[in-house]
Amino acid sequence: MKLHELKIHEAHELLKKKEISSSELTQSVLGRIREIEEKVGAYITVDEEFSMAQAIAADKVIAEGNIKTLTGIPLGIKDLICTKGMKTTCGSKFLEDFVPPYDATVMAKLYSDGAVVSGKLNMDEFAMGSSTENSAMKLTRNPWDLSRIPGGSSGGSAAAVAADMCLGSLGSDTGGSIRQPASHCGVVGIKPTYGSVSRYGLVAYASSLDQIGPITKDVRDSAILMNAICGFDGKDSTSARREFPDFVSAINNAGDNLKGIRIGLPEEYNNAEGLDPDVAESVKNSMKIMESLGAEFVPVSLPNTKYAVAVYYVIAPCEASSNLARYDGVRYGKRAEDTEGGIIGMYKATRLKGLGEEVKRRIIIGTYALSEGYYDAYYGKAAQVRTLIKQDFNKAFEKCDMILSPVAPTPAFKIGEKTGDPLTMYLSDIFTLSTNLAGIPGISVPCGYSKEGLPIGLQLQAGYFCEETLLKAAYVFEKAAELEKRKPSIK
Ligand code: GLN
Repeated sequence: MKLHELKIHEAHELLKKKEISSSELTQSVLGRIREIEEKVGAYITVDEEFSMAQAIAADKVIAEGNIKTLTGIPLGIKDLICTKGMKTTCGSKFLEDFVPPYDATVMAKLYSDGAVVSGKLNMDEFAMGSSTENSAMKLTRNPWDLSRIPGGSSGGSAAAVAADMCLGSLGSDTGGSIRQPASHCGVVGIKPTYGSVSRYGLVAYASSLDQIGPITKDVRDSAILMNAICGFDGKDSTSARREFPDFVSAINNAGDNLKGIRIGLPEEYNNAEGLDPDVAESVKNSMKIMESLGAEFVPVSLPNTKYAVAVYYVIAPCEASSNLARYDGVRYGKRAEDTEGGIIGMYKATRLKGLGEEVKRRIIIGTYALSEGYYDAYYGKAAQVRTLIKQDFNKAFEKCDMILSPVAPTPAFKIGEKTGDPLTMYLSDIFTLSTNLAGIPGISVPCGYSKEGLPIGLQLQAGYFCEETLLKAAYVFEKAAELEKRKPSIK
């Protein structure tokens, strides 16, 4: 086995026993990136010197006997998480040259655990999209089939993990951007409860929905990264002031069955429109596995989830239109040169040139929906229905411990298939959006393959701060299903 093929926990054991060094491991990952980046297109920035300096420092720490779980482990970071000294472009021409003067809280946390950064990963511009095709930087391809999208917006983060171009990564999820690409690339992804992971230093898209989370090769690795990144942060006013459990101990004590676990099946998802038969089949097979492990299935109802797409595509653009006002060429970003019409002309030209089509579309929708006379009809109404969606989940969780569904209605689609029709693209988020609207956690775990051999993911959602329940169940399921062993062969 090559070193870059290792999982985080496997590499940690070898580093601890001093059978490998972080320098060797990091070299192997960088070599892998050099070998296949042209085909996969996962990275926006790779800085070998930067990564190797961190690896050498980690080796010193290990030699002194101070190894932590992430010491010397190369991780890829979605390019909207601020990394001091390394460009953070957010997939946008606007921030093409932005080198943050500070680290996001999650970075400070990873560094204090000794992690190495392998580079910054491609994404839809400002995290708006479901296929990574909205990146202004490059195209990312699905390692399982290079003619297909990797999902989005954290497409680079998922593709890099699936293709062994880093041992694990961080993504961000506003409406599915961790879970959907994880599902399309056959890896594990978690969207934590809103408030679990600090958003300080995360470039804001829709602040009431955004959460950073891990994308990894297996559930154990996700537990390791969750331990590293969760926790209260005074720099984020929505950070939850609470103690987080040790997620690794939780899965160590998960046992090998799901006895006593009640899994809710939302009746609204039965015969969901547009559900691909292979996805339906894989989900059914997973339910059989879970049943044989002792889980009990209970019907639940989420009557307002049918409004989730509409509600999300009002609330997210409204928040985005406000958050993105700072990209004006004065406070942030690349200013258009030689413009006419004074300062207004400069603003206009700068935003016109610097922002992509989808980002502009959302700024316009958001500005419209927030304008006087429309606010109550659109934003106000969407906020009310959001509360109803939350209440649906609360009611459902009185009857069950978690809710099962597909992650995405279809496996990864072809590059270019949906770019001409934003509404169809928006519908690929149908199963993931309500998690963010409610603020609850969700996990995507591989559950099967389509007839064409494309990975399919299963989504489990639980009540506020019940990540432990999700990780344990996903871990037991993963072991029984034995799906994490198949690998993409990149050709
Ligand atoms: N696909 C959704 C959107 O385009 C979700 C993106 C995300 O989670 N960042 O907004």
